[in-house]
Amino acid sequence: MKKTAIQDLFAEIKSTHNPGKIATYIPELAKVAPHQFGMYYQPVSGTGFGLGDHKQPFSIQSIAKVFSLTLAMQLEGEALWQRVDVEPSGNPFNSLIQLETEHGIPRNPLINAGALVVCDVLMSHLSSPQADLLQFIRDVTGLPQLSFTETIAHSEDETGYRNRALINLMRDFDNIKNPVEEVLDLYFHLCSINMTCQELAQGFQYLACHGRRSLGGETLITTSQAKRINAIMQLCGFYDEAGDIAYRVGLPGKSGVGGGIIALRPDQYTIALWSPPLNPKGNSYYGMKFLEEFTTLTGTSIF
Ligand code: GLN
Repeated sequence: MKKTAIQDLFAEIKSTHNPGKIATYIPELAKVAPHQFGMYYQPVSGTGFGLGDHKQPFSIQSIAKVFSLTLAMQLEGEALWQRVDVEPSGNPFNSLIQLETEHGIPRNPLINAGALVVCDVLMSHLSSPQADLLQFIRDVTGLPQLSFTETIAHSEDETGYRNRALINLMRDFDNIKNPVEEVLDLYFHLCSINMTCQELAQGFQYLACHGRRSLGGETLITTSQAKRINAIMQLCGFYDEAGDIAYRVGLPGKSGVGGGIIALRPDQYTIALWSPPLNPKGNSYYGMKFLEEFTTLTGTSIF
């Protein structure tokens, strides 16, 4: 992996016009300075490196849905798939359309509806859901200082009309078992975590290392669970841009409306990008562009 070639690519992307739009439906996200751009590359062995604003914490939003899914798979096992499917949705992340015709069973755990069901499953298992989920995320990422960001959680709560519509529809289909406001509160907190590109790249190493903290290191989840989470990320991690990411990038990953993206090549590396302006599908414009060129440059698409 040639560092200078990656530096050149980063500079080249940064110099191009960015037509993306920052997410404003969560008022706190609308306050973020749009020009920021960071990248961190972390190989499974050896030292990583960052470029641009890689030390700047940002709201990881839906990227955290991978952590809640990881815990739900551990706690619920195969029974989880009776409550949520593993199919790409082909629809925006917050769409209501399929839920009505598919009887309240979300297409996958990485769209909002699916992540709400996952939070409901977690609530049924955990005695202190917020504290227990946060502790799990700290453990799995190896980042003990992570915390929820109350201003972001509160901001989402205030404007969370669509998430309330999703959860109430699923409650009507009996696919939500706990009080809807408590499940929403857990979900809003999950989405409120701030991380840097460096922390994200480090925190997702377990999915590049077959469920271990590092290659040959401590086992966090089974090889099979890691494989399945990567499969779900490949098919569902970028919402209705899943086909495009497979075609142009060829890595499993997950995006968030804060403009963050994590992607990984099992056995090789994790890579985190952050640039707030989003393309029309809700994924970071620069982030997607960088990843496309990056896998071409390095020849590391999984296909
Ligand atoms: N918290 C955001 C929401 O519920 C997450 C969306 C995202 O990152 N795609 O709308």
